Amino acid sequence: MDFKNLVAHCKEYGFIFQSSEIYDGLSAVYDYGPYGVELKNNIKSYWWKSMVQMHENIVGIDAAIFMHPKTWKASGHVDAFNDPLVDNKDSKKRYRADQLIEGYAEKIELKIRKDVEKAAERYGDAFDEAQFRATNARIIERQNQIDAILARLGAAMKAGDMDDLKAQIETYEIACPESGSKNWTEVRQFNLMFNTQLGNIAGEEGKLYLRPETAQGIFVNFLNVQKSTRQKIPFGIAQIGKAFRNEIVARQFIFRMREFEQMEMQFFVRPGTEMEWYNYWKDARLKWHKALGTVDNKLRYHDHDNLAHYANAAVDIEFDFPFGFRELEGIHSRTDYDLTQHQALSGKKLQYFDPEQNENYVPYVVETSIGCDRMFLAVLSNALVEEAVPDAEGQESTRVVMKLPPALAPVKVAVLPLLKNKEALTQAAEKIYNDLKRHFNCQYDEKDAIGRRYRRQDAIGTPYCVTVDFDTLEDNTVTIRDRDTLEQKRIKIDDIRSFVQDKVSIENLL
Ligand code: ATP
Repeated sequence: MDFKNLVAHCKEYGFIFQSSEIYDGLSAVYDYGPYGVELKNNIKSYWWKSMVQMHENIVGIDAAIFMHPKTWKASGHVDAFNDPLVDNKDSKKRYRADQLIEGYAEKIELKIRKDVEKAAERYGDAFDEAQFRATNARIIERQNQIDAILARLGAAMKAGDMDDLKAQIETYEIACPESGSKNWTEVRQFNLMFNTQLGNIAGEEGKLYLRPETAQGIFVNFLNVQKSTRQKIPFGIAQIGKAFRNEIVARQFIFRMREFEQMEMQFFVRPGTEMEWYNYWKDARLKWHKALGTVDNKLRYHDHDNLAHYANAAVDIEFDFPFGFRELEGIHSRTDYDLTQHQALSGKKLQYFDPEQNENYVPYVVETSIGCDRMFLAVLSNALVEEAVPDAEGQESTRVVMKLPPALAPVKVAVLPLLKNKEALTQAAEKIYNDLKRHFNCQYDEKDAIGRRYRRQDAIGTPYCVTVDFDTLEDNTVTIRDRDTLEQKRIKIDDIRSFVQDKVSIENLL
């Protein structure tokens, strides 16, 4: 399903609404509706269980959003959590200078791809893309151009050279996509942290930030957690919580939001063993994604070329979103940077005594960090399809169906009396519903023809529909319909619970 329809579906079926919509919305802020919150909670539960419940050496916390302002000085966010901002003077639109330059390089890449497609058509089965790319003069020239653009961009970003970013925009004659004008302001650093003021303390002293990542709540609590749970290194601390970033350009729905949720785990290890654990988590996290049934070619690793100031290795797990491959999760080897910084600014020791080594040290950290909302979007774009199915009369028709992994589905089973004006049927159905609702999130629906009710459940991803008909009253059996195969079979009322439980349990994923 294309992206526009996916966004519309999310609103129509109560998954995601624009925040404050009646006031024309707040840009890049979204609210989760009745089905959205269920799906999101299930994603969080899958993550939490596979991290905390499945690892005896990982424990959870829930730290506050507000932290002492020195936290963000220590972490480097006050000084370095910036994006380069540039305004177009004619359209008054705001852009990230680095994204404008990357977009320019992407256009050249598109030209290469067109040439490759044309050649593939021309040569048919005999076509060897790698060889073509390596030998075709025009492609080599264009590839060199791209490499040069990205290298210069990388260097300017690393050096924080805003003048050179502006010079690059001018050299490539990049125009504003909105107005077509090349009338740009200077490029300047823009800090992405939101801030507010603490109670009655005026000025810099009382300046508070909304956390831009959850990780720091874990770092500052490292010793509290270690001592209170008597964990031995290696061990991890996991957390799910809100983070806030004043993103300059926030398009693409819930992919880039100003208020979002992160699921992060910091794993504390002995210095020198971090690469071993980095590789372990890189592998483990990809497996977590694949357990949902995501096809191999929709996920890939992307190694960072330019490492952040705190990292000695970093990789993204990218997902093939409707707008292309983008970062879904990051795995970073953060060295002892954060703990050392907090030690320096707080004056408190953040060291671990290793009984095996008989020494004190500041542990190294490997982190896995995934955006819950991005995961939501990945799950939805994987699941939502429009497909041809036979209707009740056997004629070809189309349906929109959300083929969610059953463990993540907002509603697990819908109970539907065949007819609504036959009291014996509605009573029997209500009884089944009242029993099942103690075990799963269920729905009772008696409105409209049965076919339309099935379609409604398909659209929200309900894996099973139970239909109560006249035979039910005779033999205590119901029809249970499978969302994906459309197969319908009769089972005993007493067996519904275990049948559904078997299929929808999160255990299936762990
Ligand atoms: P990007 O390069 O896309 O801005 P990032 O590298 O800044 O992301 P991290 O700081 O590594 O992201 O954050 C970890 C995870 O948090 C990301 O992999 C992503 O899933 C999520 N995330 C980051 N920023 C946002 C945002 N503005 N909206 C939604 N999710 C986000």
